[in-house]
Amino acid sequence: MAPPVFRFAPSPNGYLHLGHAYSGLMNFDRARETGGRLLLRIEDIDATRCRPEFEAAIYEDLAWLGIDWETPVRRQSEHLAAYRAALDKLSALGLVYPAFESRAEIAKLVSLRETNGPWPRDPDGAPLYPGEAKSLSAPERDRLVASGMPYALRLDMMAACQRATGLTWNELGEGPDGERGTVPARPEAWGDVILARKETPTSYHLSVVVDDALQGVGEIVRGQDLFHATSVHRLLQVLLGLGEPAYRHHRLIRDGEGRKLSKSSRSTGLRALRAAGITPAGIRQLVGLG
Ligand code: GLU
Repeated sequence: MAPPVFRFAPSPNGYLHLGHAYSGLMNFDRARETGGRLLLRIEDIDATRCRPEFEAAIYEDLAWLGIDWETPVRRQSEHLAAYRAALDKLSALGLVYPAFESRAEIAKLVSLRETNGPWPRDPDGAPLYPGEAKSLSAPERDRLVASGMPYALRLDMMAACQRATGLTWNELGEGPDGERGTVPARPEAWGDVILARKETPTSYHLSVVVDDALQGVGEIVRGQDLFHATSVHRLLQVLLGLGEPAYRHHRLIRDGEGRKLSKSSRSTGLRALRAAGITPAGIRQLVGLG
């Protein structure tokens, strides 16, 4: 049997913190325990936020922690054609439409809708897409695209869910509310998610499912902050005819006030901790893997 494949997939938009160390070490340990392979994937599709110095720091910090990974490393920015092909497949199924509202226009539409009561929010707390681009006539849509107006390509969630009902996933870890085992997927909670933008011809959801399948990842170990996103990932996997990995969501490392760590919170950054004299074994201990 082929060895199981794991991956750690950070975005180079800041320096790694204790939460990344925990996730990277969990993947590394799982790969070692199972005789598996560990891949490192650089999720750098957002050209406005990703920087080469953060990518270099990822390699340095992970190596310092004692993690090793297979090369070559897959950098998502080098594989846009693969994501484009997946997007074309979804388009051919009639599940994708362009939406032309800017972020500011969307915010305005949401506040307008909220005059009639609360507008639904996705599991991350962002309002669902409030626009009506889905119902534009084909000629109107073509006219707007041809005019050069920027747009986002969105998934027609209702139509997508009709094609893939009864979705579940196998949770080996634990969701934020203790979910484990066979978990029902609820992609509809996300509304018409963005699959690509004019300036970034893919999205997190799309590229992550394409890459996990292409790289043969069998067990996805990542933080609970991505637990609910798994619903969208399962939907895309089924629509694209991709295999089903297992998921192991892990608890999040929090700061002294119980807040989720962010790349800007300096005190929990791996570089700051290293400069303060903490050793890799000390980091393991700090995250509870000692
Ligand atoms: N690139 C994502 C992040 O840095 C993680 C993606 C994933 O593990 O699915 O949060």
